[in-house]
Amino acid sequence: MSGQAVWHVLGAGSLGTLWTCRLRRAGLGVRLILRGAESLASYEREGGLTLTERSLSQQWPVPAETAEDGLPIERLLVACKAYDARSAVLALAHRLAPDADVVVLQNGLGSQDEVASSLPGRRCIYASSTEGAFRPQPWHSEFAGQGHTWLGDPANPVPPPWLADLGRAGIPHQWTPDILGRLWRKLALNCAINPLTVLHDCRNGELTQHVCEVAGLCAELTELLECCGQPEAASELYSEVLRVIQATARNYSSMHQDVSHGRRTEIHYLLGYACAAAARHGLHLPHVLHLRERLAEKLRACGLPSD
Ligand code: NAP
Repeated sequence: MSGQAVWHVLGAGSLGTLWTCRLRRAGLGVRLILRGAESLASYEREGGLTLTERSLSQQWPVPAETAEDGLPIERLLVACKAYDARSAVLALAHRLAPDADVVVLQNGLGSQDEVASSLPGRRCIYASSTEGAFRPQPWHSEFAGQGHTWLGDPANPVPPPWLADLGRAGIPHQWTPDILGRLWRKLALNCAINPLTVLHDCRNGELTQHVCEVAGLCAELTELLECCGQPEAASELYSEVLRVIQATARNYSSMHQDVSHGRRTEIHYLLGYACAAAARHGLHLPHVLHLRERLAEKLRACGLPSD
């Protein structure tokens, strides 16, 4: 695949907009793929995507289309939520070039394999990002937290040539042969912190009042990671969870923000994935199971999907 292929970004939410604007700012070819005609009309009325970074906002008139229209896609960045990724990709599978590369940005685990198994023959590159962005209004993204993105392909350790595009766009990144380890570690951190912030309705820092609960979860998650062949991802999990809680003490977790704004959570790809993996290995993790039940009950009480 040429280094000059156009980036197609599927999903113009917080992270999709952050990536699109930086690629466009670097002079790279980028096009948005939006949900449908209504969404496209709304975007065209807006005139572009706006990125706010360090209090400076700039609008970028990135061309957009729907899944049905347009040229063949050689490079696709999937920036939907985990629960939308597979169906969104299937809707444009007919446009993917035979040698297309697909980058999946979703948090948690499970959606990457759902996408990869829906696109046999295409290279799927998994990403794990600690960057933070939110969407104050449609077609706007605010870059709220500097971070880093790891990319890797569980099926092929050779990095793709287009990684240079990310360097040009100023997207801090690193290729890793152990992307599954990165994703498992992040999943464990998310499972130990995010659901408790929803259940206790608190900022991350307030979990210092619930350290016994956090410690019990970390012990079981460590056992799970080890059993799933991820001993490095399991190493010192509890101390890193405490470090993250302290470093992000003033923040509300992404899951807390989703629930407080009445948005669906990615529970299925976090606690749901952990519980399914435990069941596959015949592991009994009572704290993790109970946490998922309590969270599901809370989500149902809020009128949100519990899976
Ligand atoms: P988001 O703001 O909700 O954006 C998702 C976007 O995908 C929305 O604009 C949504 O459109 C669009 N979409 C869904 N289905 C689509 C379809 N079939 N066709 C076209 N567009 C479609 O989510 P996000 O915060 O950017 O998160 C994306 C993923 O990155 C998640 O897995 C998240 O966990 C992960 N992540 C996010 C951050 C962050 O800081 N935001 C950091 C690290 C990882 P509608 O608005 O019409 O639904």
